Amino acid sequence: MKEIHDILGKLGIAASNNGVSTGQTSWQGGGALLESFSPVDGLKIAALTGSVKTDYDRAVETATLAFKKWRSIPAPKRGEIVRQMGAKLRERKHELGTLVSYEMGKSLQEGLGEVQEMIDICDFATGLSRQLYGLTMHSERPQHRMYEQWHPLGVTGIISAFNFPVAVWSWNAMIAWVCGNVCVWKPSEKTPLTAIACQHIIQQVLKDNEVPEGVSCIVSGGREVGEWLANDPRIGLVSATGSIPMGRSVGEAVARRLGKSLLELGGNNAIIVTPTADLKVAVPGIVFGAVGTAGQRCTSTRRLIVHESIFEEVKARLKKAYGQLKIGNPLVEGIHVGPLIDRPAVTQYENAVAEIRKSGGRFVVEPAVLTGEEYASGCYVAPCIAEVENHFAIVQHETFAPILYMIPYSEPDEAIALQNDVPQGLSSAIFTNDLRDAERFLSHAGSDCGIANVNIGTSGAEIGGAFGGEKETGGGRESGSDAWKAYMRRQTNTINYGTALPLAQGIKFEI
Ligand code: NAD
Repeated sequence: MKEIHDILGKLGIAASNNGVSTGQTSWQGGGALLESFSPVDGLKIAALTGSVKTDYDRAVETATLAFKKWRSIPAPKRGEIVRQMGAKLRERKHELGTLVSYEMGKSLQEGLGEVQEMIDICDFATGLSRQLYGLTMHSERPQHRMYEQWHPLGVTGIISAFNFPVAVWSWNAMIAWVCGNVCVWKPSEKTPLTAIACQHIIQQVLKDNEVPEGVSCIVSGGREVGEWLANDPRIGLVSATGSIPMGRSVGEAVARRLGKSLLELGGNNAIIVTPTADLKVAVPGIVFGAVGTAGQRCTSTRRLIVHESIFEEVKARLKKAYGQLKIGNPLVEGIHVGPLIDRPAVTQYENAVAEIRKSGGRFVVEPAVLTGEEYASGCYVAPCIAEVENHFAIVQHETFAPILYMIPYSEPDEAIALQNDVPQGLSSAIFTNDLRDAERFLSHAGSDCGIANVNIGTSGAEIGGAFGGEKETGGGRESGSDAWKAYMRRQTNTINYGTALPLAQGIKFEI
């Protein structure tokens, strides 16, 4: 892309062949070069130096020192600084959104949408900074008062995935910051530049407010750097977003040191379509859920559970809709599907296709790896649909690609049983105009996922709600609602303002 160097320049990144120069202790690296290639055209965008262990230790020390200052700033004042971060992101929305799109491969609309999510969470966190409420309780003892308050945890370690390279970090960081924590971010090694761009924006705001740079630190690199965070007792909370194997490894390492973790892992999201569904509403929801971001959203629609009476009709409508999809450069307006993140992701798609055929699945819309000048990066695949059975091993796992499985059902309880019969529990949806079907799906006996929608798809979420899922998705919640509580420690306080010392439960202790 011709304008990329202008965009990098506007984002404060001085890219050179030798790497991105950084020069601050909160994010300096002395390790091997991390190269960033765009899946859009296969070209190298830039390279930056990764972190070695001493860089990592320096970042954590810088953060720990900054915490002492940051926690003493009143929460609403921290909120004001986060508000300014939102204002800076508004100014840089176009450049950052374009870089997200080019480095990750999602459409420009989605890249801009991701930055909008960051802006929205800044607004949310600013308001939240005046609402970090604790409860008060009535003490059983006379002239005693009981209440609880919330204190910051310290250093929050954030490990993020490539598919939402900046939004997921901001969901964590903005909330962690108003809560009084400082952050050390380990972005995905597949999208290192967007992270550096965010760091530039945040550092400027910290500097303007004379706040130590260690409030926001970055450590760059792959799995090993994430493992340093997971195993480090100086990290008060490790918030990790990524695949289930990654979450299992991080969760075990943090649990071993009895630390706190917040896990946001893979999904295997289903939509149920009942006989009363309005297919004019359902079909666009299904198609966007299955092919948006080339099927690389944790909330992407992977399984479609359709009543047998409308199965053929839904199939026909989907075939028609898939026939109209435009696949290509995601920065070009009107393109529906961009590339996968890299060639190994294409290999995973091909392996899944082979496995589907081997298991007895039948393709309704055929898969393909696309070739030709427009697809020269080798990362473009055709979204496909296969009729399968839910118990196939391949269907039980998340394949991070635009592959949609169709499964028929006959009874409402069967549909819910199929929807729940996978190890993951992130997002789910039902399309129906039958109140009973909708309420059954939302009841205690319905969907077992962290997100359950009616007449909207599985994909995407608003920042106001708590985001996350159950079972192998990890159980964590981040973003809105009261997800902030995961970033703080709760303290129960009892104050005696009387002249005697009555003990709880009426216990007498005479001396
Ligand atoms: P990934 O697991 O390969 O990597 C995610 C991050 O974890 C990267 O920064 C990586 O370097 C790091 N990492 C990998 N192994 C690690 C280990 N053992 N210890 C510490 N850190 C480690 O995931 P990905 O391919 O970048 O992202 C796709 C996955 O993320 C999908 O499974 C998707 O569903 C999931 N995801 C989940 C959510 C959610 O909110 N539930 C959001 C986005 C993505």
